[in-house]
Amino acid sequence: MRRKLVVGNWKMNGSRQTVLELLGTIGARSKAAGCEVAICPPFVYLDLCNLVLSATDIALGAQDMSEHASGARTGEVSATMLTDFRCRYVLLGHSERRTSHGESDETVARKTLQAIEAGLSPIVCVGETWEERQAGRTYDVLARQIHVVADALNSSGQLMSLTVAYEPVWAIGSGVTATASVAQDAHAFIRQCLARHSATASQRVRILYGGSMKPDNAAELLAMPDIDGGLIGGASLNASQFLSIIDAAVRLEAVQ
Ligand code: PEP
Repeated sequence: MRRKLVVGNWKMNGSRQTVLELLGTIGARSKAAGCEVAICPPFVYLDLCNLVLSATDIALGAQDMSEHASGARTGEVSATMLTDFRCRYVLLGHSERRTSHGESDETVARKTLQAIEAGLSPIVCVGETWEERQAGRTYDVLARQIHVVADALNSSGQLMSLTVAYEPVWAIGSGVTATASVAQDAHAFIRQCLARHSATASQRVRILYGGSMKPDNAAELLAMPDIDGGLIGGASLNASQFLSIIDAAVRLEAVQ
């Protein structure tokens, strides 16, 4: 059975003060979580988050990393540096990085391999734009994004260490959420793509939904058979909203 995973992506938000406030509230509830919870703060707050979260069950993740192991790469952060801060997860291929930083599928694939080899669990983000959906190309885009990453890995064991986040680009930060059935169809399709590489891995890999997940739509989305959790942007910056989404995941874990 795949345990639900709820991940907060704080993006480029926060300050020392707001980080401490958010973690104070979220961390206090972590023991009752019942599902897995992770937060991905900006790099500069990883140390602070690591210190605060070490007393809780909440895992830590980064929002990106370099595709290179070390060297003359000004401004970059390597996978092994992230493990120094006890990061378990790293987001890779978020649409904001694909769009604003020109990250290709191949870049995302190289980063994924680098992350796995350093012992991190990559959360690989995939998803179509509105134009691609309107043109009937959603499944082509998802298949390409998944296969390029899976082809770069060396074994089904490596594939199993992946988490995928289906994030339709049109739903991110827009307040428009994919309906539960649209999201479920995409998740089931992603699982079929993974099965072409390894049937076992396809059943183990968690596929998170991301894109304006909020307390009022989380339960319906998370109840879908192929939706194994959420990647939460805006709502993860509000402790009570984030905790409500976690509660929805916990309730579903309890009935499964
Ligand atoms: C995201 O950017 O990963 C995301 C899901 O954002 P939001 O929840 O704000 O749509």
